[in-house]
Amino acid sequence: MAKRNILVAGEPVLRQKAKKVTSFGPFLEDLVTDMIDTMRAVNGLGLAAPQIGVPLRLIVIEMPAEEDEEGNEIQPSQLYVYCNPEIVKAYGEEEDEEGCLSVPGYVGIVKRAAVVTVKGQDLKGRPIRTKAEGLLARAFQHEIDHLDGKLFLDRVESPEKLRRIEPRAKRQEQGAEPI
Ligand code: ZN
Repeated sequence: MAKRNILVAGEPVLRQKAKKVTSFGPFLEDLVTDMIDTMRAVNGLGLAAPQIGVPLRLIVIEMPAEEDEEGNEIQPSQLYVYCNPEIVKAYGEEEDEEGCLSVPGYVGIVKRAAVVTVKGQDLKGRPIRTKAEGLLARAFQHEIDHLDGKLFLDRVESPEKLRRIEPRAKRQEQGAEPI
């Protein structure tokens, strides 16, 4: 499979409402494999199909493995693949800084629900559901926004809450997770 090109803000497909996934089969599996390869190649936390130019309601998110202070893995990385994801419950509010693979060079402070329940379908069309909090909840909200043609920039409340960052090489030191 292959790494695909990630589109950046200004591409019309990033502003469209994506279409529901209605057929489940090898095409979808190949597409998701490419999305995962692309996300991992750039150390992203998540990716939505429109970001690689495919206007379908399909997202992938991978939470990094958690390590203790000695570097021992206490929880392996967790991969989420959702077709037609929807937020069915949301509560609380949290402000945090977020970035986006389609908005290189900027991060912004964005208010999101603190806890969300997401439902959707897996790659075989079977119903799935996840209750997420913290960074995972933020990632789901960010990726689902992509399916509705929204970017985090639309949710940054004022220009002071947006800041420029160095290109990717330095991003990790700055602590922002591209989604
Ligand atoms: Zn994004």
